Amino acid sequence: MIKEKFHEVEAAIAASMERRTRVPKDAPVKLIAVTKNHDVAAMREAIDAGATDVGENRIQEAKEKYAVLDREVTWHLIGHLQTNKAKVAVQIFDLIHSVDTPHLAKALDKEAGKIGKVQDILVQVNLAKEDSKSGVYKEDLRAMLDLVETLPHLCLRGLMCIAPNYEDVELCRPLFREMHEIYQQVKELPYPTANITYLSMGMTHDYPIAVEEGANIVRVGTAIFGPRQY
Ligand SMILES: *Cc1c(COP(=O)(O)O)cnc(C)c1O
Repeated sequence: MIKEKFHEVEAAIAASMERRTRVPKDAPVKLIAVTKNHDVAAMREAIDAGATDVGENRIQEAKEKYAVLDREVTWHLIGHLQTNKAKVAVQIFDLIHSVDTPHLAKALDKEAGKIGKVQDILVQVNLAKEDSKSGVYKEDLRAMLDLVETLPHLCLRGLMCIAPNYEDVELCRPLFREMHEIYQQVKELPYPTANITYLSMGMTHDYPIAVEEGANIVRVGTAIFGPRQY
């Protein structure tokens, strides 16, 4: 079941790439299987079906799964991170998508430094300025990126956004398009220690549109694993 659904999502991504008009059709997309609220058995199934990347949004849950998962996989933190959990986050995650304040960036830099790591991060942008979501407003993005560049144990890898949960998913398209424009501008900034290659956007209800508009990481849970039980 998970296997079939994982392959369906892969096929849908390929179909969306074919529909691209502004972005090269062959620019690859990384699929993150969002395993939050699903158990380790489900994670194994997804990995055995071909998943190379998993996404978690809570530190405690990720820590428990990390301790027992007997598979090689790349770990992504996609949820809001409290500063006091930065220490555990740098121990587990290969890429942290949700860096949203200068305070958190400094805390991650400090903790990564303690374990001799350079932590790959994305800066989360709150493009629609939703109160319910974290992320840097686009007006504040340059200052945030300038700060990250000064922190020796962080490497800026790109940007992340979560689109509003519109009933009509087409309303996400202009936001994704604008995010892709911002991403391309950010790639041109003179940051010698950054390596900006990732634009993380798109979840179950909107990833086909995100891919059409230039996402190169999508974070998909429900379409692979079914609904989450809370
Ligand atoms: C839960 C979550 C996802 C996956 O959501 P689905 O709708 O289940 O695909 C993606 N991104 C973030 C930030 C999430 O918290």
